[in-house]
Amino acid sequence: MARPDALIRPEIRALSAYAVPPADGLIKLDAMENPYRLPDDLVQAWLETLRDVPINRYPEPSGRAAVEALRATMGIPDSASVLLGNGSDELIQILAMAVGAGGMLMAPEPSFVMYRMIAILTGMQYTGLPLNPADFSLDLPATLAAIEQHQPHLIFLAYPNNPTGNHWARDGIEQILEAAPGLVVLDEAYEPFAADSFLPDLPRHDNLLVMRTLSKYGLAGLRLGYLMGSERWITELNKIRLPYNINALTQASAVFALTHHAVFDAQARQIKADRALLIDALRRQPGLEVFPSDTNFVLFRTPRERAGAIHSGLLDAGVLIKNLDGSHPALKDCLRVTVGAADENRAFLEALAKLL
Ligand code: PMP
Repeated sequence: MARPDALIRPEIRALSAYAVPPADGLIKLDAMENPYRLPDDLVQAWLETLRDVPINRYPEPSGRAAVEALRATMGIPDSASVLLGNGSDELIQILAMAVGAGGMLMAPEPSFVMYRMIAILTGMQYTGLPLNPADFSLDLPATLAAIEQHQPHLIFLAYPNNPTGNHWARDGIEQILEAAPGLVVLDEAYEPFAADSFLPDLPRHDNLLVMRTLSKYGLAGLRLGYLMGSERWITELNKIRLPYNINALTQASAVFALTHHAVFDAQARQIKADRALLIDALRRQPGLEVFPSDTNFVLFRTPRERAGAIHSGLLDAGVLIKNLDGSHPALKDCLRVTVGAADENRAFLEALAKLL
């Protein structure tokens, strides 16, 4: 009989699947989702749109209308081409598959875990780039030395970074773009909440791609990521994309949502205002170190060895956040909370206060 240990690559058997904890009945502040739904009147209009989607047919293969809607709302330079992915996760996978086994993928650490995971899944080599542990800034000398030594095909820079919440100095990123022999992908998943973007810089850099997603914007359930860059890259990457990777309901919903982008922009502004309140409130709690955030989440360090107990105490109180203790040495005693609606943030803060 065929056995997994005979058939499946050892590096895959050594991995754990991407873990998503159950959240039924909990205040869900673990996954950087937008807490707000569409207003009721828009739900009706959205459902009307979906009524006309011919689900007996394959979707439009390149998601043309969704790309046009993104172009109309997101400030994509005219010279850039766009590739849609089933979430930006799929775009990371497409990039890794394009380089393939034996290539080198690099990303700062700690950062989004899928960079490393997808490198392993696709047989690529992976090298983590150190961040300064005090403030999670780029360790530029070490980064440039690693680029020189390993000559990476792909570098992923989450801008701003997950799970640390900060964005890195522009100057450092410019130096990485100069030094990199391959592609540098600026992953701007948290752009709706961020103060800066490299999208306007696309025409200036031949080896720069900018990746974004609608997930944090308020549409995580749709699974729509988009990658932008010069046509000569996007044309090659498009060959790897599976046919019809963006389903018809997602395409129609994205067009609808982007037509009403003012609603989502207002939600993002609300989330940023609530982020400031949440950070202030956390800073008033005794014994916490609270890191600045340019995203829709806040990273904080608990008193020594308390992260696990506080995380599970919050769970007992009905609040799910993310425990990062143990995931990387620089994240010792750290927890990450997504900015929710005002009442959710309040419930989180009240439960936390009782645990400190
Ligand atoms: N990039 C970063 C930095 C992220 O934090 C995440 C999700 N947590 C993603 C990409 C994946 O987003 P998507 O939902 O578009 O796959």
